[in-house]
Amino acid sequence: MSGNAIEIEGLRKTYAGQKGTGPKDALKGIDLAIPEGSVFGLLGPNGAGKSTLINILAGLVVKSSGRVRIWGFDQDVNPRQSRAAIGVMPQELNLDPFFTPRAALEVQAGLYGVPKSQRRSDEILELVGLSDKANAYARTLSGGMRRRLLLAKALVHSPQILVLDEPTAGVDIELRQMLWSNVRKLNEQGMTIILTTHYLEEAEEMCDEIAIINHGEKVAQDSTANLLGRIDAKTMVIHPASEADTLPSGKGMEVDRRPDGAIAITYRAAETSAEDVLAAVHDAGISIRDVKTEEADLQDVFLELTRAG
Ligand code: ADP
Ligand code: MG
Repeated sequence: MSGNAIEIEGLRKTYAGQKGTGPKDALKGIDLAIPEGSVFGLLGPNGAGKSTLINILAGLVVKSSGRVRIWGFDQDVNPRQSRAAIGVMPQELNLDPFFTPRAALEVQAGLYGVPKSQRRSDEILELVGLSDKANAYARTLSGGMRRRLLLAKALVHSPQILVLDEPTAGVDIELRQMLWSNVRKLNEQGMTIILTTHYLEEAEEMCDEIAIINHGEKVAQDSTANLLGRIDAKTMVIHPASEADTLPSGKGMEVDRRPDGAIAITYRAAETSAEDVLAAVHDAGISIRDVKTEEADLQDVFLELTRAG
């Protein structure tokens, strides 16, 4: 293998037009390589094409063209092997209401051809915190428990790659913590994790590498650290010793007075130095009681990259 868990080349998806609408180009030629062993974030606004991409990986949506390789297996050449390498926790809560969690896992294991002797239903139910609901009807489960069950189902065939589509959208804090601690645990055991989220702090915290897609196109892919480094805007926040009458000014500086009386000076580190900023503050006759700097976060990068259109 190439060191990549997933390799996608020129992936396109056009949905046939529904009533009153024309065909929809949901993916417009995506190239994407996802490193083995990573926690990989797929970010993008609503409608960007994230679920379409993930559902193609899962074999739930048929691509229009392009190449998809999962764990080294071409989806068109080795559909069974490529499907066996991946487990997907979908965005939709689509569960059969008449199966208990244990039965749902057994059925899923059967679908993937996991022999009875190798099934781990109890262990997986324990992992997701559903042991005490193992024999309850799915329709009596809360939304959070259903999500736990969807995660459990994605794990029955011990896939090398786990994909989670918006796993924490609208879930409570406890479930979110359970999900992230499981993701970390599984990743430490060697599983490659791919997740979509629109919570940027979450991607920042969880992901080693991130791809941003917008309108069916990839607009960026990099390590989380490099993506954050792309925006070199820094903000220096000055708390003056007494109320400042004059605001500092200088080339390449954007100056704001904050409600708490602090003065925020935003500048590009490549063009303006911190010393220039401090000199401008001094020239304005301001004595400094306290100073701190703020860095750009993923939100800034994301807005910059998805602003066009
Ligand atoms: P995301 O998960 O990033 O929100 P989706 O992949 O769900 O985006 O959707 C991408 C685009 O494709 C959207 O414009 C959406 O309306 C459209 N789309 C998704 N599923 C279908 C479908 N089954 N039929 C027609 N259009 C679809
Ligand atoms: Mg989606």
